[in-house]
Amino acid sequence: MECIKSNIENIKTKINNSCKISNRNEEDVKLIAVTKTVDIDAINEAIECGATDVGENKPQELSRKFEVIGNKVRWHLIGSLQTNKVKYIIDKVYMIHSIDRLSLCDEIQKRAEKIDRTINCLVQVNISKEDSKHGIYEEDALSFIKTIANSYPNIKVKGLMTMAPNTDDKELIRSVFKKLKKLSIAIDNENIEGVSMDELSMGMSNDFEIAVEEGATFVRVGTSIFGKRNYNKK
Ligand SMILES: *Cc1c(COP(=O)(O)O)cnc(C)c1O
Repeated sequence: MECIKSNIENIKTKINNSCKISNRNEEDVKLIAVTKTVDIDAINEAIECGATDVGENKPQELSRKFEVIGNKVRWHLIGSLQTNKVKYIIDKVYMIHSIDRLSLCDEIQKRAEKIDRTINCLVQVNISKEDSKHGIYEEDALSFIKTIANSYPNIKVKGLMTMAPNTDDKELIRSVFKKLKKLSIAIDNENIEGVSMDELSMGMSNDFEIAVEEGATFVRVGTSIFGKRNYNKK
């Protein structure tokens, strides 16, 4: 308990420091507690310690936890999303961070329409072009977003998301975040109807301070709150 509490406090202090350095308003940065593999008790502890947003990357896991915890927090689907899993989360998520192909948009549109909801979505961009990463390439983002705006009325694009390369090279990480910010400004300047670029989801345990300095509005932090993940635990 103490541990999760102090971890969250530490992270918030660091976020606030990064805001000061970069002249940003700390209210513009929201912490998503990434709860994949974390059990319900620990999630509830985090909520008692002020967590307002949680992130999961497995649809069924999100669904199972939502049934217990409910709308006390906002649920974010942060990992790559298989089309046939959309049905588990469509009525539960506050935001999907990983829109990266039209076949996924088709399914979200169909399911969202059925329950008469619009779904907040972020387009995942693979800035570093690593094969292992999901997301569309920078140069394809604008036309992709225009297509969504034109053809998917129940999908609301709210911004962009990226994953930094897994490296100790801080300047490389920073350059990826800078590119995502620059891309979001370029897309915002197009004034596409129904599209906003208010949100930038970037930064994890290892790099969230850099992400905040470069304009993140959502940071997704798991390990630094809950400790190392145990993938075998059920
Ligand atoms: C697991 C995960 C995170 C959190 O990673 P940590 O290093 O544990 O903070 C953030 N974003 C995504 C998409 C993830 O899958």
